[in-house]
Amino acid sequence: MENTWVGLLDCNNFFVSCERLFRPDLVGKPVAVLSSNDGCVVARSQEVKDMNVPMGVPYFQIKDILKKGSVTTFSSHISLYRDISRRVFEVMKREMGQVEQYSIDEAFFICKGSFAEVENMIEQLKNVIEMEVGIPVSIGLAHSKTQAKYAASMAKKSAGVKVLNMEEWSTIITDIPLAKIWGVGGQMELKYKANGLVTVADYLASDKQRLGAIFGVVGQRLYAELSGYASPSLGSSSSAQKSLMSSRSFKNPTENIDVLADAIAYHVRHVAADLRRLKLKASLIRVSINTSRHGDFILRGGTLDVAFNDSTNDTFKLMAAAQKLLKQLYENDVPYKKVGVVVSDLVDSNGQQGSLFVEEEVTRKQDRLMEIIDNLNTGKNKNLVKLGTRLRAKEWQGRQDSCSPSYTTRWSDVARVSAK
Ligand SMILES: [Mg+2]
Repeated sequence: MENTWVGLLDCNNFFVSCERLFRPDLVGKPVAVLSSNDGCVVARSQEVKDMNVPMGVPYFQIKDILKKGSVTTFSSHISLYRDISRRVFEVMKREMGQVEQYSIDEAFFICKGSFAEVENMIEQLKNVIEMEVGIPVSIGLAHSKTQAKYAASMAKKSAGVKVLNMEEWSTIITDIPLAKIWGVGGQMELKYKANGLVTVADYLASDKQRLGAIFGVVGQRLYAELSGYASPSLGSSSSAQKSLMSSRSFKNPTENIDVLADAIAYHVRHVAADLRRLKLKASLIRVSINTSRHGDFILRGGTLDVAFNDSTNDTFKLMAAAQKLLKQLYENDVPYKKVGVVVSDLVDSNGQQGSLFVEEEVTRKQDRLMEIIDNLNTGKNKNLVKLGTRLRAKEWQGRQDSCSPSYTTRWSDVARVSAK
């Protein structure tokens, strides 16, 4: 266990580094990358960060500052960044074996060895990538993905590599606010605070069962991640990460939330029916709404998830949660091109432990109702009962779209766009 490490490799100022690859004269000079209509800043070199130019700020607002600071600006060249990203991860795969790509410029990996051995290993990995691809990277190594994320942020502030062992971790956690931890933000952060949990140390000093009772699966998983006992595995090999997904691109982009709601309803019906068919229940639902990969809105859209205190395969419950997430994600005047629904943290629906908060009678009635709907929907009367609307289907489905969407149990196939 102690000899197995989870690593995160993160490309530094990725878009800027890609541009500098072809303009080595700009290394060490201030560079900013703008969205493709030059609308706003989407990447900044360290020099530009030091000028306090925030991410995502509209270009016209900081035009003068950039000019004064002799900042070289580029329009986004996404196909180039994607190509360089592919090269980085190819080298990584060759050097480290299995790699789980998390975003265009980040990927997790696993390595084994003593502290000195793995430190040497990641120093070499950094050198090889910088030699062969030419992109500067930071690498963090620890005992869970969440710890590795934190280690990578420490690496960025120092030599570019950081091995964070349990001994050091236990000495720094009193100074790490939960808000600085990967995935903790917004509502969850407030919820933790309301329960007196401010630092990582506060969290780890709490009773695990109690955390589970208050914060559900998400809270328990965070405990495992922070304590370094999360199973060090990538992709689908961990049963806790098995998931079902339904997603599809639209024929034409849409700015209409009703059309998006309709598409979400369609995907929820599919994953819910599949859960029941497979006799599974989900503890987490995740909704993604994405814009086109090309064009000005590439960085808009996002992904949000919510955990259920009691795992479920109830279409009504899943639908309500998904539509709520959609409302939180949706922005006016953004053309969306794709929506998707993922359910994960699946448990056997027979072996599930009853929760103290659910009245069993209600659950049984809901199960029976779902069974009736599923029976109606199979055979000749396919899709007879449709929960949620399907009135807008023509506006998002292509003509040949009557076949069922493809499902996956791999996180690697899930679109990763974060709402920021
Ligand atoms: Mg990065």
